Amino acid sequence: MKVVIFGPPGSGKGTYASRLVNKLGSPHISTGDLVREEIRNKTLLGKKIEKYSSSGTLVPDEIITEILKKRLASELSKGFILEGYPRTVGQAKELEKITKVDVVMNLNVPDSVIVDRLSSRLQCRTCGAIYNEKTMPPKVAGKCDKDGGELFRRVDDQPEVIRERLRVYQEASAPVIDFYRSKHLLKDIRNEDPNADPDKVVEQIVKTIKQ
Ligand SMILES: [Zn+2]
Repeated sequence: MKVVIFGPPGSGKGTYASRLVNKLGSPHISTGDLVREEIRNKTLLGKKIEKYSSSGTLVPDEIITEILKKRLASELSKGFILEGYPRTVGQAKELEKITKVDVVMNLNVPDSVIVDRLSSRLQCRTCGAIYNEKTMPPKVAGKCDKDGGELFRRVDDQPEVIRERLRVYQEASAPVIDFYRSKHLLKDIRNEDPNADPDKVVEQIVKTIKQ
């Protein structure tokens, strides 16, 4: 199965994507994770990305596409649950050149729910894993389940910053969502319950995918 998952920041798409792995038997590919990995491994691409990030400019489409291609090349036959890509219609067209996507899931979550969820979010300093004080707390308070790394609250998880990020997301994602809607690949999922059990949401996603 080749699935792309869309959703605003804080919609829980990363959580759902990683839980879909077992249900669909395809790997979860997050371009955010891939980028962090390149930087951590100090690869040529990683160094390029760092240069853009430190100067505050957006990492160009081509670099992200290159990283994704490298990752997909090794196991395209297993399919994927792709998150964080494509962010632009240009990237969507690049992805079309690589392979044919089966379905695009669009997570719709009201802004108020996201603000509530993000302001209780914690992230691991070591591996980037996301926790939530209310809905998905770590086993030991303040520590990552996977590596014991320190959990911290991101500066951009303040309500007014979140609202601005949501506005930016809507604006940027609308053309990409329209692109997939026009190809009849888009399926909408609504999630209005801020404390919804992630497994229930995943069930709903699987049902929708298989419809
Ligand atoms: Zn960690």
